Amino acid sequence: MARPLPDILRIEWPANAPEPSPRTEEALDRGVAILRRGGLVAIPTETVYGLAADALDEEAVAGIFRAKGRPASNPLIVHVADEAMARSLAGEWPAAAAAIAARLWPGPVTVVVPRSAPVPDIVTAGGSTVALRCPAHPLTRRLIAKAGTPLAAPSANRSEGLSPTTAHHVLESLGNRIDLILDGGPCLRGIESTVIDCTVSPPRILRPGPLSRGRLEEAVGGPVAWPADAAHAAGSPARSPGQQVRHYAPKTSLETPADPVCRIGQLIAAGTRVGWLTTRADDSDVRGLAASRELVIVPMPDDPEAFAARLYATLHALDQRGLDRIVVDPPPEDEAWRAVKDRLTRAASGAQEARSASDG
Ligand code: AMP
Ligand code: MG
Repeated sequence: MARPLPDILRIEWPANAPEPSPRTEEALDRGVAILRRGGLVAIPTETVYGLAADALDEEAVAGIFRAKGRPASNPLIVHVADEAMARSLAGEWPAAAAAIAARLWPGPVTVVVPRSAPVPDIVTAGGSTVALRCPAHPLTRRLIAKAGTPLAAPSANRSEGLSPTTAHHVLESLGNRIDLILDGGPCLRGIESTVIDCTVSPPRILRPGPLSRGRLEEAVGGPVAWPADAAHAAGSPARSPGQQVRHYAPKTSLETPADPVCRIGQLIAAGTRVGWLTTRADDSDVRGLAASRELVIVPMPDDPEAFAARLYATLHALDQRGLDRIVVDPPPEDEAWRAVKDRLTRAASGAQEARSASDG
């Protein structure tokens, strides 16, 4: 029997208001009631929308894996209202995790720490560590506090697809598989959190994200390592689900050619309809291509944070246009672009696999 589409309830907390509106409180209470009976609620965060269930309820968490079509080997990030809730889920609370919680939470960074007994196996994919984050969205923290329980929440999309940065993206991807969508507006950061393994010394970044290595080093007061190169290679075992190659991919095949102007010329000549994300829309060689009916040019910001904030929403929008190919300018070889580069590499290699599979 098909389930109905979920309600989408708008939640807001105007900047100068001491409390959210009564309508928002009601929406949060609906969310709490659903979470208490083991249901699934999509929640806004500053990174991407999450698909939340009570992290201590095994059955509820199983529902997340079913709704997403997510392999059981892929552990979930648990969202907490504050550091005290995080510590209740940790077997140990390493100094690096304490420093990050004190200086960077609430914020877009997830710490991996030894787990404590109440955390069900299904959350950690049977592993001995748990990933914890306190999100910066004040209404999501309020929801967690009202529920009085941590929320397991991976991105609110079908497995391997693009992460959602608006309530509408969630509806499109998960529609009648979930119980409620809380619409807190577009996500400000727009890409998934930085994940840092605090069980090793020095702590190691497992997934680059909105907070740079420099910010993390400042917070922990010492060095922070990049992911081992091996963990980046295709097909290596997942230390972290975000490390899987086929992740973050739009439906339209995506590439980041070294010379986009030349490549797009070739694609258009072959009758391929192309969407192009470029930070150089004003260059004369780019304007030369702009007249082609086969080409949609999307000007992008040349600041990495602003680029990240817009990336998924732009890819979602281009996916709707039924193009044959998405081309993205290769990002600069600069640490500040590392998270964007990571997402684009994964999106492109997913597309590469899909292209060779359909060719072969
Ligand atoms: P997503 O499915 O998009 O929400 O991403 C989930 C993220 O959770 C992955 O990228 C991992 O980095 C992280 N994660 C969750 N649990 C663990 C864990 N126990 N160890 C390492 N990474 C984890
Ligand atoms: Mg995801």
